[in-house]
Amino acid sequence: MPEGDTVFVAATRLAAALAGERLVETDFRVPAFATTDLAGQVVLEVAARGKHLLFRTDHGLTVHTHFKMEGTWHLYRPSERWRGQSHEVRAVLRTANRVAVGFRLGIVEVLSTRGEPNVIGHLGPDVLGPDWDVDEVVRRLRSDPPREIGGALIDQRVMAGPGNVYKSEVCFLRGIDPWAPVGSIEDLEGMVTLVKRLMEANRTTGMQVTTGDTRRGRERWVYGRAGQGCRRCGTQVRRAMQVEDSSVASTASVDEGPNERVTFWCPSCQPGMGPSVRTSRRT
Ligand SMILES: [Zn+2]
Repeated sequence: MPEGDTVFVAATRLAAALAGERLVETDFRVPAFATTDLAGQVVLEVAARGKHLLFRTDHGLTVHTHFKMEGTWHLYRPSERWRGQSHEVRAVLRTANRVAVGFRLGIVEVLSTRGEPNVIGHLGPDVLGPDWDVDEVVRRLRSDPPREIGGALIDQRVMAGPGNVYKSEVCFLRGIDPWAPVGSIEDLEGMVTLVKRLMEANRTTGMQVTTGDTRRGRERWVYGRAGQGCRRCGTQVRRAMQVEDSSVASTASVDEGPNERVTFWCPSCQPGMGPSVRTSRRT
């Protein structure tokens, strides 16, 4: 699943290919923008903001996309065959030399660049952005002490970027039960700083390595390892959906649907109550 670091990598690659180039054809395969045509406009920059991508043009317009669960952008030469299902194409941006094709994007829209705050203004400080502010993130976390830390860490209003991989890995590395209330955690600053450190380490590759070992199958401590032995203690790593109270989750759903809240943890290294009947369902 794309997290802030993979979006950052995508923005870097797309910017290298498109920035400063004039669009010769655009194709938005979503009903609301099916007739929108940005041909003739120059792409000024491609910015990542959390999991959002913003393509800004010299006409004061922004193409805003969000990867959601399965989205991806490919870059091709004009003569190249696309690797992907044509019915999954959501956006095409073509210059003289490159073609950027967005597949399975959760959000595709064109808006005025000045209107960007309407679609990303809810985001907290960006883990990989110039606005990063650890004190502000800790303040936002502390504002809701009963909230489960696993839900709070991926709430893009708290901080923009992290998803289930970094949530799961950081909770493991700090020995914190993902269902522990935020108010019970003493060193929130340490957790937040670790999120930033891990995401920064992967910002040029997007590989989401947290163990320091890039070999296949060894990249992470718990994420994706349900049923396998914990690398530290051998206890079976567990997996569950972490669904928060609807009052919290409904306002956070802009960036995370309920199906995106999978959590992995080691019940021995991360002692606590774990998932309760009230707030979660096992998978
Ligand atoms: Zn363990």
